[in-house]
Amino acid sequence: MLPLVRSGNVVFEINLGAIQANFQAITALVGLGVKVAGVVKSDAYGLGLVDVARALIHAGCDLLFVANLDEALLLRSSHVDGAIAVFCDDFAKFGQLYRSNNLIPVVNNCAELGAISATGTQPYFLNVETGFSRFGLAIADVRRAYFSGTFDRYPPSVVLSHLACSERVADPTNVLQRNRFRAVYDLMKPTWGSLAASAGVWLGKSYHFDMVRVGSALYGLHDAGIRPNPLQPVVRLRAKILDVRNVARREAVGYGATFRTVRASRVAIVGIGYKHGLPCACANKISARVAAYSAPLIGTMCMENMMIDITDIPEALCGPGNFVELLGNDFTVDDLAAAVGVNPNEVLTRLGAGCTRRYLNSSLLSTRHRAYPMQWTATTRSE
Ligand SMILES: *Cc1c(COP(=O)(O)O)cnc(C)c1O
Repeated sequence: MLPLVRSGNVVFEINLGAIQANFQAITALVGLGVKVAGVVKSDAYGLGLVDVARALIHAGCDLLFVANLDEALLLRSSHVDGAIAVFCDDFAKFGQLYRSNNLIPVVNNCAELGAISATGTQPYFLNVETGFSRFGLAIADVRRAYFSGTFDRYPPSVVLSHLACSERVADPTNVLQRNRFRAVYDLMKPTWGSLAASAGVWLGKSYHFDMVRVGSALYGLHDAGIRPNPLQPVVRLRAKILDVRNVARREAVGYGATFRTVRASRVAIVGIGYKHGLPCACANKISARVAAYSAPLIGTMCMENMMIDITDIPEALCGPGNFVELLGNDFTVDDLAAAVGVNPNEVLTRLGAGCTRRYLNSSLLSTRHRAYPMQWTATTRSE
């Protein structure tokens, strides 16, 4: 047998304690009477579905949203109890799997609503389309079902919709969607209404209804940009210097010679590239941190490497084997996304897929997590 050697060029750290702190910060912000549901879809935005779900439950989160049935079943097989809602899957086909694993379907169209009534599945959530043109029943279909008595027989526990422009506070689409949602909410009078995701939290009380569904804010992303920012950064990304070379003045660095030295330079070759999930658009735009120094990324990003200019940094700090920091408290995922013009969620999901993850504060968690069972009907809530 060959020994298993891990090169360990890249360290992608996820601070579970910071995710918990962000959950608590949002809970405090929305105040009593508004539930904060944790969105852990897409492998918890690349940060690890099971570990993040456990951390959230441990922090008091009692409702999780996943992307699909596969994610929900992974949580159940990892002994994550508690309420799990599935944003989108084939409920008509897999209804039995939902029921036997105690999963809550989000009903996104009339056919699924038909399958709910045919099987009497409870609880379920109803998604209403108010201006995103993705999933959800049209308001006319909701009204038709309402007046035909469907919801008297099979009331949804949560009525939800999704905002398209909530990261732009002044965008009139927000008011339009809120007013449409408000009309459905007033008609149906559900126990729980839910319109806002992370950025919607900062739009104010009139957007919170009874529950907010937050993903990116939990992971330290602050797409609403309101200051002061109450969220903590969650990830730290470091990579190892593999080699250092002297490069003469006017030499090209990297593919396409997109960078040319203007002086005799010292260049460090760092063991991280686009295969680890960093956007190629970072080329010539961001810097790595070496202790208190900043080392610009020069030339294009390679698949497994990048080059940084360390001419002005003491040699003792940046020899082969030293680590440099790409992301952390001083330069966050939001900062990177803004600097290179990409979506911060995309950066996180790609890093999560491309790097081996290492968790901080996971010792806070026991292996088995029993969440408080949720009661979904209005009159029998017993908290
Ligand atoms: C992804 C998603 C969320 C969470 O969005 P964030 O902006 O990351 O908080 C909430 N609701 C729905 C329907 C989503 O698809």
